[in-house]
Amino acid sequence: MRAIVATQPGGPETLVSTEVPVPAPGPGQLLVQAAAIGVNFIDTYQRSGVYPAPFPFTPGLEAAGTVTAVGDGVTEFAVGDRVTTSQATAAYAEQFLVDAALVARVPESVELALAGALPLQGVTAHYLANSSANPQPGEFALVHAGAGGVGLLLTQLLAARGVRVITTASSQEKRDLSRAAGAEHSIDYAGFAEAVRELTAGEGAHVAYDGVGKDTFDGSLDALRIRGELVLFGGASGQVPPVDLQRLNSGGSLSITRPTSTHFMRTAEERAWRYRELFQAIADGQLDVRIGARFPLAEARAAHEALEGRATTGKVLLVP
Ligand code: NDP
Repeated sequence: MRAIVATQPGGPETLVSTEVPVPAPGPGQLLVQAAAIGVNFIDTYQRSGVYPAPFPFTPGLEAAGTVTAVGDGVTEFAVGDRVTTSQATAAYAEQFLVDAALVARVPESVELALAGALPLQGVTAHYLANSSANPQPGEFALVHAGAGGVGLLLTQLLAARGVRVITTASSQEKRDLSRAAGAEHSIDYAGFAEAVRELTAGEGAHVAYDGVGKDTFDGSLDALRIRGELVLFGGASGQVPPVDLQRLNSGGSLSITRPTSTHFMRTAEERAWRYRELFQAIADGQLDVRIGARFPLAEARAAHEALEGRATTGKVLLVP
């Protein structure tokens, strides 16, 4: 079968398309024929060596597809079942393995392509909105990269609850898209902290969601009101260097958290709750999962170039 291999730490050119044997499911595992494979920023962190990875390796945590074989001890899934996950390994391939405990069943009403676009960014948006922080109706939330995968989903979840969302995005087209997703205001990055203060009658936002990292971190702290919370959840522009905690004192008794999605799916119940609410929001027409770009599996390199080059909106998929 076809799979992508990251040969060594480096740029997108280190991703090569190659033929590999179909893996066999071990105890408790499913073998899944991929219909849609999610491309995520974490894949770029692993490829470039920012996060540790066992080179050479096949990237990919997120995909949806149809079960083609089950390992010993699997009772709750059978060949032919439609599943999706954000916790696979080596998902940039025509078939991939995943622990049966780490998948969700895809409702009949949801297309597999959509199901492949949802798990990582959707679960992230869900835990950011409900668990890392929990902004209330009428409160202000700043969301960076508002037209991105997480940004569009998070904006919709917050706005549906009555949170007043202000986003940043780098182009007029992206800002229009972000407003259409429910942002009350979408602004450029230049001077965003001052702009947020103006838009909140001088007070600042209750919560800032920052997945851009290095370039926006300081401004995000400046954009908060007294006792505001910064949720730093990524580093699309680079990782944030160490911080002097006195900055939280002078900024107004601020809080910072640096969450990661696996810590918000600690039990089967927690994972099921998040998927249930996301699939329900789609069924109710409250959540639009935008697939901004599809690349053939063999063109994973181009997909990484587009994601890192800020050329994408919504979800980026690989199609086997
Ligand atoms: P996006 O679709 O949001 O793409 C990243 C966006 O970041 C770009 O489109 C761009 O939007 C913005 N950006 C700003 N500066 C840069 C830069 N220097 N280089 C590249 N992009 C930049 O990606 P995702 O939705 O997949 O992920 C968003 C963030 O969330 C990432 O940091 C990712 O690591 C993080 N994440 C964290 C998780 C967690 O659990 N902690 C889980 C999932 C994702 P614009 O052009 O508008 O600036």
